[in-house]
Amino acid sequence: MSSFKADLHCHSTCSDGTVDPEGLVKLALQIGLNGLSITDHDTIDAYEKALPIANALGLRMISGVEFSTVHRNVSVHLLGYSFDLRNKEIKEFCNKHQKRRESRNLEILNKLAAHKMPISMNEVKEAMGHAPGTIGRPHIAQAMIKKGYVKSIEEAFKRFLGEGRPCYASGQHFDVEETIEIIHKAGGLAVIAHPHLIQNEGIIKNLLSMPFDGIECYYAKMHANQNTRWLEIAKERNWLVTGGSDFHGEVKALIPLGSSWVDQERFRPLEKHYLMHTPH
Ligand code: AMP
Ligand code: ZN
Ligand code: FE
Ligand code: FE
Repeated sequence: MSSFKADLHCHSTCSDGTVDPEGLVKLALQIGLNGLSITDHDTIDAYEKALPIANALGLRMISGVEFSTVHRNVSVHLLGYSFDLRNKEIKEFCNKHQKRRESRNLEILNKLAAHKMPISMNEVKEAMGHAPGTIGRPHIAQAMIKKGYVKSIEEAFKRFLGEGRPCYASGQHFDVEETIEIIHKAGGLAVIAHPHLIQNEGIIKNLLSMPFDGIECYYAKMHANQNTRWLEIAKERNWLVTGGSDFHGEVKALIPLGSSWVDQERFRPLEKHYLMHTPH
């Protein structure tokens, strides 16, 4: 048996990770990974920098992205894989999400101001020491720490920014079906992200009846017995099995890159699909 490992879920500085795209490729090789997908929130910008260095250093990469959707008022994350990175549909959808984020982030800042925690958008942008493509709640949480409003990112989410907390805002909604359709139109594979985190069984039931291509069975530091259910579901439906760490670097310091991964057998169909859709 080979010891092939591919981590198919991680974030770079193009969204809310703290390691830049080149750094992710180097880190992946350093820790012995053979394959990688960078699944930034609502952007594929990381690939411009990551692909040339991955090709040069021999790391096998497939395209990836993570989209936030809402189903019956519950937040559901979708992963898209193996689409052509030059595809217009994906880029346009990313742009739409960026706009949703801009107004959603302002809404959150307004709520924070109403709770006597004023922060400007510039302070958010500066909080992580760089100008990220996709600005998310982790950036806002960092700014809150810098301003002395909270002590940790965890505290910021628990008290203010988490779903259902007083300064949470979801912004414009994109539904699951629409997102699957766009990923498919772009020639990609639509995958349910971290089903382990979905609390509501009704939502899970709905998702399982939708035209997904795969499900993220291995996630972060979940124990093997927490993955069994999802592996069985994938088998029943003949869905692809994916897996990854959801590495974010320092903002989620307890989850290292490579803490979940797929072997060569799981990676190959995704890579094959990717290479088929990406003319060389
Ligand atoms: P956003 O996409 O801007 O709504 O932010 C969601 C992101 O915030 C997630 O993808 C995680 O990276 C991060 N996040 C969510 N909950 C927490 C938490 N409790 N602690 C730290 N980070 C979190
Ligand atoms: Zn994130
Ligand atoms: Fe997610
Ligand atoms: Fe993620």
